[in-house]
Amino acid sequence: MAGILSAIKLPEAGLSDVTVCEKADRVGGTWRENTYPGLSCDVPSHLYSYSFALWPDWSRRFAPGSEIEAYLERVAADHGVLERVRFGDAVARCELSGDCWRLTTASGHEDEADVVIAATGVLHHPRYPEIDGLESFGGKMFHSARWDHAATLDGARVGIIGTGSTAVQIVSAVVDRVARLSLFQRTAQWVMPQENPPYSEAERVEFHRHPEALEAVRQQQAEVFDVFSSAVVDADSAPLKLIERLCVANLEESVRDPVLRERLRPSYRPACKRLVISPDFYDAIQRPNAELVTDPIERIEPGGVRTDDGRLHELDVLVLATGFKVDAFMRPMEVVGRHGTTLEQAWDPRPVAYLSISIPDFPNFFMLNGPNGPVGNFSLIEVAELQLPYILQLVDLLASGRCRQVSATPRALEDFERRREEAARHTVWVTGCRSWYLDVRGLPAVWPWSFGHFRRMMEAPDLAAYELA
Ligand SMILES: Cc1cc2nc3c(=O)[nH]c(=O)nc-3n(C[C@H](O)[C@H](O)[C@H](O)COP(=O)(O)OP(=O)(O)OC[C@H]3O[C@@H](n4cnc5c(N)ncnc54)[C@H](O)[C@@H]3O)c2cc1C
Repeated sequence: MAGILSAIKLPEAGLSDVTVCEKADRVGGTWRENTYPGLSCDVPSHLYSYSFALWPDWSRRFAPGSEIEAYLERVAADHGVLERVRFGDAVARCELSGDCWRLTTASGHEDEADVVIAATGVLHHPRYPEIDGLESFGGKMFHSARWDHAATLDGARVGIIGTGSTAVQIVSAVVDRVARLSLFQRTAQWVMPQENPPYSEAERVEFHRHPEALEAVRQQQAEVFDVFSSAVVDADSAPLKLIERLCVANLEESVRDPVLRERLRPSYRPACKRLVISPDFYDAIQRPNAELVTDPIERIEPGGVRTDDGRLHELDVLVLATGFKVDAFMRPMEVVGRHGTTLEQAWDPRPVAYLSISIPDFPNFFMLNGPNGPVGNFSLIEVAELQLPYILQLVDLLASGRCRQVSATPRALEDFERRREEAARHTVWVTGCRSWYLDVRGLPAVWPWSFGHFRRMMEAPDLAAYELA
């Protein structure tokens, strides 16, 4: 998504020599890699679209993943992106040499660039759980982002480890196909009820005929998300309390069995973890063939999952919906900046970047959806679309000859981190849960201010925060 965006916007800004390095053989990123049953966006699709390529034919409010992948492929093809992509070769190393970056790929290909934009994704490297005996499982076992479509689900005994947005989507999608579904829950999740109605033929015709109607829907969806983004960064806000009431009512009203209801009730506040959005998860988990397993997993055996009450949950298929290494970003790519400083050194003990975009000593190297930026339940397309023009203003300093190197100053980064950490203490993310938003210190590694504030910060770089060499 962010690479396609860059390949469209950089040439529009007069920077015609642009190469996108993509290790896979197709565009699509997340939406190419994740193909699990039930995958859909949980940001409304008209908001999860490029502002310059709104799409009148989204089938539903929250489109399935395959539609998003097709959308990205279409936008890339329509905007001449594909000719700019060098497919099938990972960038293994970027090293600053004078004023330019030398890139080396996995196959040994070498290239040079005045500017590098890392658009390598956030939820990209699957995280596998550390459970004894994992490799000994005798059936089909795979991570949700590496779905094995050869695995038969129909009539099978299927186990799913994890209870985040992905696991919830899979449970709803497969429960009626499988003989038995076991959901292994370490932590209960709040579930925000959200219907996913299809767009009618008439609505789509209207969007085709009147692009302003499409704009209006997007605008409406953006306004709702702005309220949400302000809610989560203020643990005492009224909209957050409304979200809480909706989640609690969803649990109370949807789950009939009081024992199951209590096992599904989280011990922390709604939105402390990334909010799970689903119209039908509670229905699915109450099906007669579904079981919520809350006893901790002791080990995996050839026949299934052994929980610490001694029971063996016999399985044919085991899905690891255990998320991603969210602090990897462009790693394992090696990045070597000024004075031989490596990214590993700059990011010890945790990834940092001024405004999520620039790292001191890594001049002319910028990130889209880099560390500590907005992730919440937002549209990351919108985030990248705000970051890129900001980066272009920095690139303009190079193109116009004002400087040969631009990177955030250590002081700007330090000051940003201090303010960010202070603000993070007032967010709902620190109200008593463990989540992938939290860094090694237990502080949220995300943008702790409103989306409106992010928009304002992305309008123009404050050059006092940058070293222009
Ligand atoms: C299951 C799932 C559901 C999601 N749902 C939503 C949602 O509802 N709303 C939302 O806003 N976001 C969602 N996201 C987040 C999603 O990742 C982003 O919205 C978006 O797709 C990120 O795009 P990107 O281009 O930044 O990164 P990616 O889509 O991850 O693309 C990164 C690309 O970089 C390539 N790459 C990485 N390293 C290298 C290298 N060294 N050399 C060459 N190529 C490399 C990868 O192959 C990949 O194609 C979801 C993520 C997942 C996993």
